[in-house]
Amino acid sequence: MTDSPAQVRPDRRAELAAGLARVRSRIADACAAAGRERSEVTMIAVTKTYPASDVIALAGLGVTDVGENRDQEAAAKAAQVAAARVTPRWHFIGQLQRNKVKSVVRYADMVQSVDRVRLVSALDVAATAARDRQLDVLVQVSVDGDAARGGAVPASSDPDVGFGPVVEAVAAAPGLRLAGVMAVAPLGWEPVRAFGRLAALAEALRAEHPQATIVSAGMSGDLEAAISQGATHVRVGSALLGMRPTLR
Ligand SMILES: *Cc1c(COP(=O)(O)O)cnc(C)c1O
Repeated sequence: MTDSPAQVRPDRRAELAAGLARVRSRIADACAAAGRERSEVTMIAVTKTYPASDVIALAGLGVTDVGENRDQEAAAKAAQVAAARVTPRWHFIGQLQRNKVKSVVRYADMVQSVDRVRLVSALDVAATAARDRQLDVLVQVSVDGDAARGGAVPASSDPDVGFGPVVEAVAAAPGLRLAGVMAVAPLGWEPVRAFGRLAALAEALRAEHPQATIVSAGMSGDLEAAISQGATHVRVGSALLGMRPTLR
């Protein structure tokens, strides 16, 4: 007999509660060290590779936001969670192919990984057709300018992957709402330096688009650095749920 997703084993629930307490205290300490209010930072639980039952347990512990990076996995999980009448905000944080946008716009509250003009138009068409309100979008930034690893490239006017062109495409799309920026610190970079660059870009963006207030930065290993540089959202997976079996 398989457990239904709504049934959470007590030992797993205790494990998640302990992980959550540790991460919450790290976030609180980082806010205090940065002179910021705790309420300025939202934690997104990155539940990729973990089952719907974990999402439901985390929601029961007060987690409001969850992140997923693969459509196939996320769509199934979101359906199971909804069937249990649990309604977290779903953030799509992974590389997104245009043939997946129709699916993603049905369950995602925010897409954080928009980094190409061609993806913006596909997402806009899908969001307009399937949703009764705008889809929140973050423009993913390639802090080191290497577009191959994902992210729009600052100071590039490339019509598909330049940061400016992607921003303007999102701002002009009726089905989308430009809500801010997201980044992953590049390998080999000091996280404070990477997130400092992101913060400067976010500030320049807000000057043009005042509603674009979200800065999604920081993961299990570098959330303190991100909070010190003004992150409003941190995306935490392994520190909360445990090490994933495969790196992705
Ligand atoms: C997996 C993932 C995370 C979470 O990473 P952890 O190191 O497990 O906290 C954050 N952001 C993105 C884009 C991810 O793919």
